[in-house]
Amino acid sequence: MRKTILIPGGAGYVGSHTAYLLAKKGHAVIIVDKRIHNQKFSPSWATIIQEDFSNKTILDQIFTTHKIDAVMHFAAFIEVGESVKHPKRFYHNNVVKTLTLLDRMLAHDVKNFIFSSSCAVYGEPVTVPMDESNPFRPLSPYGKNKLIVEFALQDYATAYNLDSVSLRYFNAAGALPEAGLGEQHDPETHIIPLMIRAIKNQTPFKIFGTDYDTPDGSCIRDYIHVLDIAQAHVLALEHLDHKHSESSKASAFNLGSGNGFSVKEMIGAMEKICDKKMVIKHENRRPGDPAILLANPAKASSVLGWKPTHSDLETILRSALTFAETFSPDPVYSYSTSSADRAHR
Ligand code: UDP
Repeated sequence: MRKTILIPGGAGYVGSHTAYLLAKKGHAVIIVDKRIHNQKFSPSWATIIQEDFSNKTILDQIFTTHKIDAVMHFAAFIEVGESVKHPKRFYHNNVVKTLTLLDRMLAHDVKNFIFSSSCAVYGEPVTVPMDESNPFRPLSPYGKNKLIVEFALQDYATAYNLDSVSLRYFNAAGALPEAGLGEQHDPETHIIPLMIRAIKNQTPFKIFGTDYDTPDGSCIRDYIHVLDIAQAHVLALEHLDHKHSESSKASAFNLGSGNGFSVKEMIGAMEKICDKKMVIKHENRRPGDPAILLANPAKASSVLGWKPTHSDLETILRSALTFAETFSPDPVYSYSTSSADRAHR
């Protein structure tokens, strides 16, 4: 059935891929995004409202004019280091504004919510691979922001019958160059776009830490293709359709491939694809980086029926490379995002 989905932060990395997939599946997509980095994002397949996602007047107008079936919320500040330096900004944007969005939803009786969460809610893993029973010990204000919203969603389910799914992303990666979609942030901090930049320009790629307790000493992460994450949102929407039991009214799922790659393995894979060596610089550990983050996605698989199909490393790297080569000939990228897109610690 065709639905109308409101997508705060839909001009960002994961948001744009998800919006695209929803539109392709025949849903009506309304994006609210301030495009704070002046993204030139105005696709034909979505309605875009360039506004703050917590603007009550705008939200009331949208909820009055359209019958919104669900809200998928991607808009957030995502830089972990910044969240440590400026927690006020992060709590305001990621928590307070999200609660305003939820208020307006409830005021208009819109009761289906899908939330961009993060494995940052866990902090250091207790068991690897990580399932949803890992304790919550977020290391940054960013991770705490995500967790606070998840807690609110649990209480809102009980008190107000708000149905929600929180999707805890591991390392979102890859691109959909054929749709003009991909990953670019300003400033860029993520490994794949930075590797591409380094290999293209023959500038040093910095490895943050080679003394971790991992086989090659560099950090291991679980890279999951953004299109697989988008597909999980589509399945979460279907999940909300089935009026499920009380216990699953505010459910949460880890989204990762279940495969881990070290930074050195990522470098090797990129060098192989490009048939070119990277200039490497060894740096100290980045504060707050756990040695290994690896998902156990069994719950998403059994409950949502989610199965990543684009997340082999070669597909991820090649798609990111094609996107960068097609849309960013200039090493200083012009497109960037304001949205939550990636697990941060
Ligand atoms: N990393 C690195 N050099 C870089 C960027 C990232 O060594 O220039 C490492 C980082 O320390 C982490 C992994 O690559 O172990 C993934 O980092 P990214 O910032 O892409 O994602 P995060 O895991 O922080 O969400």
